[in-house]
Amino acid sequence: MNDEQLLRYSRHILLAEFGVEGQERLRTARALVIGAGGLGCPAALYLAASGVGTLTIVDSDRVDLTNLQRQILYRTESVGMVKVDAARNTLAAINPEVNLVTLQQRLAAGDLAELVPRADLVLDCSDNFATRHAVNRACVQYARPLVSGAAIRFDAQLMVFDLRKADAPCYACLFPEDGEVEDVQCSVMGVLAPMVGAIGALQAMEAVKLLAGIGEGASGRLLLLDAKSSEWRSVRIRKDPACAVCSSR
Ligand SMILES: [Zn+2]
Repeated sequence: MNDEQLLRYSRHILLAEFGVEGQERLRTARALVIGAGGLGCPAALYLAASGVGTLTIVDSDRVDLTNLQRQILYRTESVGMVKVDAARNTLAAINPEVNLVTLQQRLAAGDLAELVPRADLVLDCSDNFATRHAVNRACVQYARPLVSGAAIRFDAQLMVFDLRKADAPCYACLFPEDGEVEDVQCSVMGVLAPMVGAIGALQAMEAVKLLAGIGEGASGRLLLLDAKSSEWRSVRIRKDPACAVCSSR
């Protein structure tokens, strides 16, 4: 690392657990962010500022005025722009050292087979079960850690699945693919802006810890936030021996 990098990342390097080695691990790490909405925006901001080497961001949408309440990568003048283009502008201004790969596309299963093995870690910041299950399948198949977030109204969840480990549960152990869960999107239900920000930032925190190789991590746990009462709950998730996705690997 050069002098400027040592200064930029000095508050990480000062952490005994982190040090130059941890920062160096981050600098060579590749994170894949699925979705540049309410969760993906704060997650990408912190990953870029923290110095993750390569950040790949996938989203098919354009910026809409209704996004600005919580999707903090975008500015009023970004309305109408392709999200990943606007995201790239903001992230590059914060940290020009990060290699940004932006893809404006809806994810198909074939895309994940290409993108996931090239990443060291995946952040699921999407807003629907079909995508979450497709991302989970790819992370199980290629044994990549998955940091998943979800938020609606005043309720939010954070889940970490360290799928490099054979005994780790996967997203489908918790929410089976054939389960009766309905997609509820914040376009109809509403969502508390800073709560989405908090969960996205926590996704980035768990990702940075995993990539730098520090701390315990929240692997195998489901963290639930009730923002109205400011109550957190932590639930241990066990691997389901009958899980249709991860049991046979
Ligand atoms: Zn599973």
